[in-house]
Formats: sequence, structure tokens, C-alpha cells
Amino acid sequence: SSSTTPIKATLFPGDGIGPEIAESVKQVFTAADVAIDWDEHYVSTEVDPRTNSFLTRESLQSVLDNKVGLKGPMATPIGKGHRSLNLTLRKELNLYANVRPCYSLPGYKTRYDDVDLITIRENTEGEYSGLEHQVSLFFSSLVKNLADYLSFDFVKVVKGVVESIKIITRKASMRVAEYAFLYAKTHGRKKVSAIHKANIMRKTDGLFLQCCDEVAEKYPEIEYEKVVIDNCCMMLVKNPTLFDVLVMPNLYGDIISDLCAGLVGGLGLTPSCNIGEDGIALAEAVHGSAPDIAGKNLANPTALLLSGVMMLRHLKLNKQAEQIHSAIINTIAEGKYRTADLGGTSTTTEFTKAICDHL
Ligand code: NAD
Repeated sequence: SSSTTPIKATLFPGDGIGPEIAESVKQVFTAADVAIDWDEHYVSTEVDPRTNSFLTRESLQSVLDNKVGLKGPMATPIGKGHRSLNLTLRKELNLYANVRPCYSLPGYKTRYDDVDLITIRENTEGEYSGLEHQVSLFFSSLVKNLADYLSFDFVKVVKGVVESIKIITRKASMRVAEYAFLYAKTHGRKKVSAIHKANIMRKTDGLFLQCCDEVAEKYPEIEYEKVVIDNCCMMLVKNPTLFDVLVMPNLYGDIISDLCAGLVGGLGLTPSCNIGEDGIALAEAVHGSAPDIAGKNLANPTALLLSGVMMLRHLKLNKQAEQIHSAIINTIAEGKYRTADLGGTSTTTEFTKAICDHL
């Protein structure tokens, strides 16, 4: 309640629709009398040399100090000589796991009524290590000349070849596996499925699985299974209730978590939370800055609001988290106020007001 000392939390409104939906979160939190003192940080218009990005050192420090925050979508400005905003956050704050709950919203009809899944994605390595390169021109032309001279064929293979390096480490795999099992245990979940392609990627996914196996042994009360990614996709669309908590390397997590978002109604609805070392939690909507509808008061703030609810649960402010959650669900279920992405005609502000009224 308002009588307790407010907890400081960083707020990145972000770009595009970000400021509009962040405003909605602030209004709803105020209506619910949540004791959060927002420490707001915008993406800078200049590159900060200390971070080599449009995110300033001060804004990163704010999350490191507060240990908790909420982030709107960020569109990385195009140009050379700086790092992507999301990558900067991930690296600087060591955000190693992305947790994405996907559950059916009562009152919003989709193909499935009873989805209740948690995807936990390794967020720092795997296929997204950023280590991609071409065989150097000098090298390839040299080889080509030589091969032409010797009339060898193999250069046809070298030319037009690029490489990408997938990195899996024991450290990062253990860290995310441990987080997944701890999450399952503390949230009363029954099963953890490790998603992989170790039949082909024997060494990398093999190591990931081995780490999951090791952690699973410490949690005999939690059912554990290993599922090959392609089969997992098929099973998810056929019957999502076959799964509970899913843990996986970076690329698979990116794909599967979007697939799961699709099962429950899409990007306007799905929240997530990034978990970092030293207990950092940075919640964020899954969607991007939606430039096509930015500034038009059309965005659905639900995903960011539900991310805010995840943040409150992380802070153990469960009562207010529950109140806000119910107000959102009830507003959508009632069907009177819905944004365009859910087939309605309400503006962001009308929908937000309806949620506040429910509180
Ligand atoms: P997007 O998620 O911004 O938009 C995809 C589609 O979904 C658009 O039609 C958009 O209008 C709609 N949409 C998204 N969120 C919505 C909401 N809350 N309410 C109603 N409709 C919504 O994806 P994009 O167009 O591929 O990306 C746009 C920009 O966002 C890019 O610069 C991208 O890099 C960035 N991005 C950032 C993040 C992040 O910060 N985590 C994530 C994804 C994309």
C-alpha cells in the first residue's frame, strides 16, 4: 500500500509505441496503489562511448543498483560503430535467461483454451554469439586463382561460403538449467522439458543436455524429459498441454517462445522477464516498437502490463500483482474495451482507463 516505502525500479519506456504503453503501466500501477518509484531512462540520441551504445552508462547503472526494472521495446538506430540496444542490455547486465509465460487469457478465444506453458531461453550464447564471418576475399581469390590454375573444383565450394559459430558453455548451460528447475519447483510446476537437436548437434546440444541431466538429478520430484526441437514444434501445435516448463538454447528459445505466443493470441499479449546475475530482473514485452502504429494511441499495452505484473511477482508484491492481473483479464474478457489487435476499436487510453476502473 501507499504507506510502505516505495521500491525503486528502473523504467525504460523505449521507442515507437513504448512511451504510450509505458504511460499505461504507470497509470494502472498508480490506480492499484503500487508502491513503485520509477527511475525513468530514455534511449539517448548519442552513442555513449562508455557503453558503445545509445544506452548510457547511467541507465545501465540504474538497473544494476535497483536490481529490478521494466523495459519497453527498443529499436536500434541504424548505423555503424555502436552495439544494438538489446544486446548491450543483455551483455552488460548479464541477462542469462529469458522467461516467457504463455497462457490462455480467459475471454479471448483462440484455437486453444488451456495453454499454460513457460519457456526459458538461454540468452547469452548458442547461435547468437555474433561470431559470423566470410572467408576473406584475399584468401578466396588466392585459392580461386590457384584452383583455376590447377583446374580444381573445390573453390566453387569455398566461394560463397560463410560461417557462423555456435557456442555452448557448461557455465551458461548449468546456469539456465538450474534456473529452470528452481523456477519449476518454486512455481509448483510438475515437468521440465529440455529442447534440443543433439542428434545432429552432438557436441553443442549434447553438452546442453548433459547439464540439464545433471541438474534434473537434483530435482527428483520434478518430471524431466528431453524432446527434439522439430518434434516439440509438432507436439506444441497439436496439443500444447503436453508441456509445462521448457528450457532450451538461444535460437530454439527464440523460435519456440514466439510459437507459444501465437498459441495464445499473439504479440500484444505476451510478457517476459530477463533474469540476470546477482538477482537482477528486467521484465519486458515480447513485441517490438511497432513503428506502423506508433504515436496513434492504438497499441495494446497488455504485454507490457503483464510484464509489470511479472516484475511485481518478482518483488513478492503478489497481492497487487494479482489485482492488476485480474483487472486486465476481466477487461479483455468483458469485451467492451479491446484494442484493434484483439478485434476491438478502443484506443490505448480507453483500454487503460477501463483497466483502472476495474481496479
Ligand atoms: P513489432 O513487434 O514491433 O511489430 C510486429 C507487428 O505487431 C506490427 O504489425 C505491430 O503493429 C504489431 N504489434 C506489436 N506490438 C503490438 C502491440 N503492443 N499492440 C498492437 N500491435 C502490436 O516487430 P517489428 O516490426 O519486426 O520490429 C519493429 C522494431 O522493434 C525493430 O526496430 C526491431 O528491431 C524492434 N524490436 C525490439 C524488440 C525489443 O526491444 N525487445 C523486440 C522485437 C523487435
